[in-house]
Amino acid sequence: MPKTTPFQKRLNEKMRAKRNPMSLAGLKAPVEPVPEPSAEALAAAGDLHPSRYPQHPDPTKGQVHGGVCNRTACDNGRATWWNIHTYGFYCNICGPNLNFADSAICAPVDAKPTIEEMNDAAYRADIQAAAAARRIRTRLYR
Ligand SMILES: [Zn+2]
Repeated sequence: MPKTTPFQKRLNEKMRAKRNPMSLAGLKAPVEPVPEPSAEALAAAGDLHPSRYPQHPDPTKGQVHGGVCNRTACDNGRATWWNIHTYGFYCNICGPNLNFADSAICAPVDAKPTIEEMNDAAYRADIQAAAAARRIRTRLYR
C-alpha cells in the first residue's frame, strides 16, 4: 500500500467529514428517541394493523375514523377514506388522489374496519369497487 502524504491525509479527513460532520469530533449521530405512545393514544387509535404504513410515532395519525390524515405531509382532519394497502385513513383531498385508473384502493367508510375486515377479501373488494365507482363519477361530473 502506498504511503499516504499529509495532503492526502487531510483530504481524506475532509471528505469523511463531508459525509458525516460528526466524525471529526469523534461523535456519533444523535438517535432521536421515539416516544412511547400514551395509553390514551393507543386506545383512541383502536385496532392497529401490523402492516400499516407508515407506522407513525403517534398511533392516532391515520388510524382514527374522522381523525388526522395518514399521509406524513398532511395534517388535515376528518380523515374517513380507508386505504386497503396502507391500512390507514386519509382526508378527502389525499384519499381520492390515491386512486388511479388501474388501481382504486381508497374509499370513504362509515367506521374503522376491524382487523378481521382489514384482512377480509370481500371487504377489500368492496372498498375497491367503491373507489372505482367514485373515480368514474368524479370524471363524469368534473
Ligand atoms: Zn391528507
